[in-house]
This record gives sequence, structure tokens and C-alpha cells, in this order.
Amino acid sequence: MNDIIKLIDRLEKSHSLNLSEYEQLINGYSPTVAEYAGKKAEAVRQAVYGRDVYIRGLIEISNICKNDCYYCGIRHSNKKCQRYRLSEQQILNCCDEGYSLGFRTFVLQGGEDLHFSDELLCSIITKIKAKYPDCAVTLSIGERSFESYKALKEAGADRYLLRHETADKDHYQKLHPGNLSFENRIKCLENLKSLGFQVGCGFMVGSPYQTAKTLAKDLKFIETFKPDMCGIGPYITHKETPFKDMPSGSFELTLYLLSIVRLIDPNLLLPATTALGTINPNGREMGIKAGANVVMPNLSPTDTRSKYELYEGKIFSGDEAAECKKSLEKSMKAIGYQIVTARGDKINQS
Ligand code: SAH
Repeated sequence: MNDIIKLIDRLEKSHSLNLSEYEQLINGYSPTVAEYAGKKAEAVRQAVYGRDVYIRGLIEISNICKNDCYYCGIRHSNKKCQRYRLSEQQILNCCDEGYSLGFRTFVLQGGEDLHFSDELLCSIITKIKAKYPDCAVTLSIGERSFESYKALKEAGADRYLLRHETADKDHYQKLHPGNLSFENRIKCLENLKSLGFQVGCGFMVGSPYQTAKTLAKDLKFIETFKPDMCGIGPYITHKETPFKDMPSGSFELTLYLLSIVRLIDPNLLLPATTALGTINPNGREMGIKAGANVVMPNLSPTDTRSKYELYEGKIFSGDEAAECKKSLEKSMKAIGYQIVTARGDKINQS
């Protein structure tokens, strides 16, 4: 165990380890080690971001998707999924409501729905930015061409979330059908970065066929790609997918990885994800205490929330956004943190 503690100390100082050391860190998981890493991560996070928690208003614009990712509940082949897409006006209404509640970032997330052409998306982005120039617009709508990303950036989009899902090519192919490639995923991330987006990557913890070796590659990828944000949540089984018999990921390992990633990049925007809050009722609070500094409450219309079912049991409340924000404020206060009204860009000092 002392070896693992030494590795954590070294990571805190150098923000870098080699692949086999990352693998050792993962294999060396124990509650004691995780607690040690968590304390360090919390201190590092507080040195950069204090006790502020950034919020992003998540708007789930469509659950229609042309892709068939083996793990995802809204995959194309799931015939039981009730499909919906929000209109431009519905999306703008969500932003109005969010703005009045203090949200200064809107995240438009959805399946790869071809209805959302560049033209339509650019129109939506332009309108949001015209009405709320003090807000950031984040997109999370999958793989698109360089030209498409360029048009979206020029329309005013600030950030893009595209989880890399796994940094191991063979593993990537086990999670996705043959028409989706690891190379294209990474190419998209590079294109987004080169266009000046603030970029978020990320992965699921405990996805089928994941090993300590593939996780070590994820950590190395985060260290070298240097994203602005990184989404890490447990994999959660959905019964209408080919992975229906595969177990969900571990809550504890997710917290440990959040802490490790915080030590890799003290300035990273690191959300305590909805999936983390789904597998444990205190998941989001514990995520913040393990080093996360962002939460993404749902601003989608209440009647569509349950349909955006990426995994089973996904938490959504029938509560209006105002209620959700109030209860989040309370639960963050209870652990000594505060929600802030701010765009919440990455702080770039070291
Ligand atoms: N179509 C967009 C958005 C995908 S949904 C895109 O391709 O980026 C956002 C994230 O949810 C995915 O990147 C994936 O990591 C996560 N996700 C999907 N299915 C999941 C599951 N069963 N359990 C946990 N997370 C899941």
C-alpha cells in the first residue's frame, strides 16, 4: 500500500505517471488509498476553485439517434424507446427558464439526430447568444465533420463535450458497431480543439471489457490531450441493449478515478455526473468531495426527461428546474460548498 501512496504523492507533484504506474494505481485501489487520494484531490481542487461549484443547465434536445452503441439506452435499435425531439422554441424556453434561475451555461445534448442540421443548430446557437451574451453554449451531439464543427463555432458555440469513451482501440470496438471508429472519435476531438472550442472528453467506469490496462490508457490520454473538461461516470446497464447482462460499474472506483484525474489536472472542469447520482443517492455530493467541481442539473421540459434514458433508473425528477436548483443548493451547502452564478470557464493558472 505504501507504494500506492507514494505514487499518489508523485502524481500530485508531477501531474504525470507512466502507463504501468497508472495501472498500478488502479489495481492498488482500496478504501484507505481512495480516502487518501480523495483528501489530496479535495485540497487541490479548493486551491484552484475554492468551494465554488459551477452549474450547467442540461437540455436534452433529442433522443433520436442514428448510432447503435452497445451500451446506450437510446441506441437506434431500441424499439421500446419513445422518441422525441425539442423544437427550437422549446430549447429557447429552457434557456429562458435557466437564465432566470442563475444558469450561465447551457448544454445542448442529444443523440445523433440528423434533423439537427448545421443550419438549424446555428440558428439556435445564434439566438441563445444574442439574448444571453453572458452565457456559454456547450454542445454534446456527437461526431460531425470538421466543416460542421466550424460552422457551429462560428455561430457562437463555446464548448463541446464528446467523451472519448475509452482510449484503447480494441476496447472501443467492443463497445461500438463497426461503422464507428476510435480513429474518428479522436479525430473529432482534435478538430474541436483546433477550432478553439473548450473541449470535454471522458469515459464510463466499469464499461464492459474495461480493464486496469484500458483505464490506464484513459488516464494517460487525459494527461496528454489536456481537455478543459472530463466527464466520468459509472456505466449503468440498460435492459434494451446488447449489454443487458453486463454488470454496472463501481461507485467507489468512480470516486477514486475522479480524485486521480483531479491530481492529473488541478484546473480541470470535472463534473459529478448524473450517472454517479443515479447509482448512489449521495453520489453527486460525494463526487464533489472527491475532487469534482461541476454539476449539470436538468433543464429539459419535465415531460421529456424520462425519455432520455441512457441507462436504467436515470435520476430525473418531475420537479421544475427551480425546485431542482433549490435542492441542489441545499445539498451543496450541507457539505460546505456553494453553487455560483457564473459561466464557469476553466481557470488556466497553474
Ligand atoms: N450522442 C452524444 C451524447 C451521448 S450521451 C455523443 O455521442 O457524445 C452522453 C454520454 O452518456 C455518452 O458519451 C456515454 O459515455 C454516456 N452513456 C451512454 N450510455 C450509458 C450507460 N449505459 N451508462 C452510463 N453512461 C452512459
